[in-house]
Amino acid sequence: MFTNYKSQFEKDLEDIHLAGTWKEEKTISGKQGAEIEVDGKQLLNFCGNNYLGLAGSEEMQTAAADGLERYGFGMASVRFICGTGTVHKDLEAEIAKFFGTEDAILYTSCFDANTGLFETILQEGDAIFSDELNHASIIDGVRLCKAERFRYKHSDMGDLEEKLKEFSSRSPSPSPSPQGRGKRMLIATDGVFSMDGDTAKLKEICDLADKYGAMVMVDDSHASGVLGKTGRSSIEQAGVMGGVDILTSTFGKALGGAGGGFTAGRKEIIEYLRQRSRTSLFSNSLPPMIAAAALYTLKNFDIEFSTRLETLRDNTNYFRSAMDKLGFKLGGDGKHPITPVMLGEEKLAFDMAGALFKKGIYVRGFTYPVVPKGKARIRVQLSAAHTREHLDKAIAAFEEVGRELKVIN
Ligand SMILES: *Cc1c(COP(=O)(O)O)cnc(C)c1O
Repeated sequence: MFTNYKSQFEKDLEDIHLAGTWKEEKTISGKQGAEIEVDGKQLLNFCGNNYLGLAGSEEMQTAAADGLERYGFGMASVRFICGTGTVHKDLEAEIAKFFGTEDAILYTSCFDANTGLFETILQEGDAIFSDELNHASIIDGVRLCKAERFRYKHSDMGDLEEKLKEFSSRSPSPSPSPQGRGKRMLIATDGVFSMDGDTAKLKEICDLADKYGAMVMVDDSHASGVLGKTGRSSIEQAGVMGGVDILTSTFGKALGGAGGGFTAGRKEIIEYLRQRSRTSLFSNSLPPMIAAAALYTLKNFDIEFSTRLETLRDNTNYFRSAMDKLGFKLGGDGKHPITPVMLGEEKLAFDMAGALFKKGIYVRGFTYPVVPKGKARIRVQLSAAHTREHLDKAIAAFEEVGRELKVIN
């Protein structure tokens, strides 16, 4: 009986329109890449997570096609019944090798990895310390678990320490819980925060974890294949490979762009997830062709894709310094290809993204409530797929539109 509800939903939808937060999907015909076609219009794409340009690439297409040929379309099972193929085991071993962890478990997405993590390893009486700007999937994962939640101010180590101290003093550890184990503490953070492109203070976080006896979990979805000397992660960049106990990430961004997620880390934790994690136990295993393509990415990363990583870094530096010179205020720490152009006013971000779109540059304005009020911005994301010509076109368009809208002089 929907009749009574119809008008309510209509009103809810109208409210979203009125709040100015309605999300319009733009439909790409053809493949993802630096050059895309949207509604018959040719655009340069600066808003994908396609950092290494693999999403629409020949390499990934071939790798997936080979996987399809070898392993077929799907498994029609969860992992533990009859859904585990050699490709899944091979990929898990390769993830562990690539990221330098003891073991890894696959999920169909990083969202699933995160929602299947916290409630599995934490219980009532435990504590979770979560950065206030953590990704929605961490927030939802934390919501599912009964541990006490502490939300610390974004990258504020003083605040994190206060909260660690508060919990530790209240619950002297290790005090036996009903299950006969000590209370667990877990600090959870994004490796790179998607709205600003800034990196978590992992060194400090790991030090605090040591001091208070907490475990550390990093969701490195935006940094896997992007940050660190060899592109492994924000963890590599911070030099704390041994200090992070749990790493979650996605194959839906730099490392391919199709999908798939994983949790990697201490072998006891991964083994426990295999036994108990609900998003693994009760959800279909990763399509084998996607697993095969992900395996290809990791196996060939250092040989085939390291030049893409260099190009990505060159492009990021080139774009940033040109925009900086023009007088734009940029967010982020400059290391990550997420380059927020800070505008402040909501309407300005909206108008500017619209004007750039007309000039063939596809970027998105981010406004409240996705970012704080008065901190509206356009988030530019660089890719190895961008050529110098693409970058120069974007920079020229930003300059023109920026002058028109009086963002720069
Ligand atoms: C993109 C993203 C996810 C979601 O990854 P999927 O594999 O697409 O589910 C999770 N966490 C963070 C930090 C992300 O940026």
